[in-house]
Amino acid sequence: MRVNIQLACTECKRRNYATVKNKKTTTGRVELNKYCPWDKKHTLHRETK
Ligand SMILES: [Zn+2]
Repeated sequence: MRVNIQLACTECKRRNYATVKNKKTTTGRVELNKYCPWDKKHTLHRETK
């Protein structure tokens, strides 16, 4: 079961990325290190609703 999620930067709180996750294999919140164009560096991005 795949659901659409958005990834928000934990530093500037902007939602920079959209992706899908598999609810069966991914438990809890998705956290990824991704490049934030606003901070101009890699930051931790966290799943939002
Ligand atoms: Zn940011």
